[in-house]
Amino acid sequence: MYPLITHVDSDHSLPESADVVIIGGGIVGVCTAYFLAARGVSVVLVEKSGIAHEQSSRNWGWVRTLGRDVAEVPLAIASLKLWDEWPTRLKHDTGFTRAGILYACESEQEIGNKVAWLEQARPLGIDAQLLDPAQIEARLQSKMPGSWKGALFTATDGRAEPGIATAAIAEGARALGVKMLTRCAARGIETEAGRVSSVITERGENKCKPVVLAAGAWSGLFCCSSPMTWPWSGTLLIG
Ligand SMILES: Cc1cc2nc3c(=O)[nH]c(=O)nc-3n(C[C@H](O)[C@H](O)[C@H](O)COP(=O)(O)OP(=O)(O)OC[C@H]3O[C@@H](n4cnc5c(N)ncnc54)[C@H](O)[C@@H]3O)c2cc1C
Repeated sequence: MYPLITHVDSDHSLPESADVVIIGGGIVGVCTAYFLAARGVSVVLVEKSGIAHEQSSRNWGWVRTLGRDVAEVPLAIASLKLWDEWPTRLKHDTGFTRAGILYACESEQEIGNKVAWLEQARPLGIDAQLLDPAQIEARLQSKMPGSWKGALFTATDGRAEPGIATAAIAEGARALGVKMLTRCAARGIETEAGRVSSVITERGENKCKPVVLAAGAWSGLFCCSSPMTWPWSGTLLIG
């Protein structure tokens, strides 16, 4: 079964130029577009299919600090705050709710790993706690389905709705002036004197300097097929 995804209309024509072209209309591409446009940058986003038609509508929607590499924890905390703010920024719901996340452990060894993680992560502001089996049942308000020995739980992590979140942010980006072309694949990048000069798309050429490559799993393929010499002197984000 395919996920239900909120449809985002395409703009009709590709502008001749923009400050930045973004390749890919998943969560990375549309968030980059939103925040660049909020800073007054003119942005064109091209998407070969539809907005959020790939990974960004097929995930579980978790927005979590729990179990992250410790180096990622400050970013994950900042991300949760941002997800809280989206409805105000966008005047639209992303389905985000701080419903809490629980990692169940089936062995003492797993619990030991969670304790080790918690010791490292807690000084960074994580509010997670270890639950014993009785506390798990109290939290789930039901009998445990498995033979769990314990669990790591945080009440402040949450989840968004993948089918609506990326589309809502895309519409927010459009309201800030971003031009979005769907069914419009980027085919390659042109350079002049070693610098990025334009992006070639299925609907023509757009003159730009930095290009953000946010093509998800396709990024590697795009890099390999692009005739330009690496590294180029523009912004590159491999999604
Ligand atoms: C089963 C599963 C569960 C997951 N669960 C979670 C979770 O709970 N929480 C979490 O944070 N993450 C989760 N993830 C990971 C998350 O989904 C991805 O990290 C995220 O969606 C990646 O976004 P993206 O924008 O980089 O890529 P994508 O969403 O794949 O977007 C890339 C876009 O680029 C387009 N594109 C590609 N090539 C071109 C081209 N040449 N021209 C124009 N457009 C192009 C594609 O069509 C696509 O729409 C999960 C992933 C999976 C698969």
